[in-house]
Amino acid sequence: MRVAQLGSGTPEIAVVAGVHGDEPCGVRAVERLLDERPPVKRPVKLIVANEAALERRVRFVDEDLNRTFPGHPDAPTHEGQLAHQLVEELEDCLAFSMHSTQSHADPFAIVNGINETARELVPQLPVAAMVETSNFAEGRLFSKVNTIEVECGLQGSETAAQNADRLTRSFLTAVGALPGDTVARDLPVYQLTDVIGKTQADTYEVFVDNFTEVDAGDPFAAADGDTQVAEEPFYPVLMSPNGYRDVFGYAADKLEILTTPPTAD
Ligand SMILES: [Zn+2]
Repeated sequence: MRVAQLGSGTPEIAVVAGVHGDEPCGVRAVERLLDERPPVKRPVKLIVANEAALERRVRFVDEDLNRTFPGHPDAPTHEGQLAHQLVEELEDCLAFSMHSTQSHADPFAIVNGINETARELVPQLPVAAMVETSNFAEGRLFSKVNTIEVECGLQGSETAAQNADRLTRSFLTAVGALPGDTVARDLPVYQLTDVIGKTQADTYEVFVDNFTEVDAGDPFAAADGDTQVAEEPFYPVLMSPNGYRDVFGYAADKLEILTTPPTAD
């Protein structure tokens, strides 16, 4: 794990990259901050989490770090120990953790509960949606640390790296670490309700678009040509044919649209 800092003092905010080793976009954003060292109005902790997995360009070495929290100092796995170290580093921080996916190109935010922090900060980020995942928080970083996760775009793409950079700067501006103003936008909020499993097969297909409602009776995915049909309407989130080993993705409800009042100058 690499830990660095912008500014002096004890940071209350942190930017976290590389929780998954096959998602390099956030690492680029952190490295750029370290190269440029912009003057900050409050100290910021910068973390590249799973360096061993990043070096091997794999999601993890022993187990998925973002399902391993809180971890343990004597855990038998690399990620089990790393989870514990990461929690210690982030204990008193609001963390901004960057990811990328195989399912959706447009950035969106993932939060564990729609609290004040989420309501205030997420509409100031260049994201198209906020996804609330408290039903599936077990083992994830935000089960232990106050965290906003962002999905920056498609894994390994140049666009995801550019998005990670923009998202990080917006976050640091929104929390008052970087100077300037953010643009607030109206934001749809989704809550994950179900896992959409997939059976062992050679080929997988997904027929629907993420964040676009699927009607009851619509076919939405297939495993080896065996089609799955929606029993009830739902919004697909993080759905992709091959993004995860054992699930297609998640079903969500649309909860509300967060509207932001016009800001006074
Ligand atoms: Zn990830």
